[in-house]
Amino acid sequence: LGRHRDDNRQTGFSYNGVDFNQSNLNIFAGLCAVDIPEHVEMMLKALEENGQVCTRMGAYKPRTNPYSFQGHGKGCLPWVFEKAGKHGIKVVAMEITHESHIEEIDTCLEKLGRPTGVMLQVGTRNTQNFELLKAIGRQSTYPVLLKRGFGITLNESLNAAEYLASEGNANVIFCLRGMKTEAGQPHRNMVDFAHVPAVKRLTRMPVCVDPSHSVGTREKAPDGILDVMHATAQGVVAGANMVLVDFHPKPEKALVDGPQALLMNELPAYLEDIHLCHDTW
Ligand code: PEP
Repeated sequence: LGRHRDDNRQTGFSYNGVDFNQSNLNIFAGLCAVDIPEHVEMMLKALEENGQVCTRMGAYKPRTNPYSFQGHGKGCLPWVFEKAGKHGIKVVAMEITHESHIEEIDTCLEKLGRPTGVMLQVGTRNTQNFELLKAIGRQSTYPVLLKRGFGITLNESLNAAEYLASEGNANVIFCLRGMKTEAGQPHRNMVDFAHVPAVKRLTRMPVCVDPSHSVGTREKAPDGILDVMHATAQGVVAGANMVLVDFHPKPEKALVDGPQALLMNELPAYLEDIHLCHDTW
């Protein structure tokens, strides 16, 4: 996946009718964690009404606290995928935390006649889970969204991407999601979107930004704009090719990361803002 000085090899790939490369932009707004069918339905309906064909939906959640909600797991896959297909979603970004989840997803999609596609997400806590990366790399059915490790160097995270490619799957998108710092405030992580052009220069991977997990709050700047929106704009202006962002119809009822979720009625303005930023390219 590394780019060399004289390397003109094409970047990117197509999956389920959606192009992913270093020149275009795809938006994956959705639920951090699947909770109840009503919320999933509301989210997907809003996406369809706003012309979106991609989403994020977490079924397997890697939690810091073992007593926190761990995600519905494979039990929710059939109704999530069916609903996604019904609303015209072509790609669902879904984190997996164990290689057995690949088969669970594949079996479910196969049984349903593949109403939608899935992008396998590797979270920041698993960036250096090499056995998981190798297992994901051995399959070529699903593209991969690899998150940067929050406490390792950029180069170490880029090497993690090579674990996927070296096993056979080069359909990889690299996601910046902020870095842990001692400071801890005012955002959950130190937003690292200035690295978008650096990753594009160093590699052939499309680059994603995750403003929700970087910022981690619904704080607003003095201009009244949410910090999540400002961070998104920074990432898109910097050349991001994908945005992964949390929305929720009722953030107070969300089972994971509610405090950072944007609201359904903020979706149109959010999308418009992204397109304005993208037009500056
Ligand atoms: C997520 O996207 O749901 C998530 C847990 O993100 P991260 O791995 O970046 O913490």
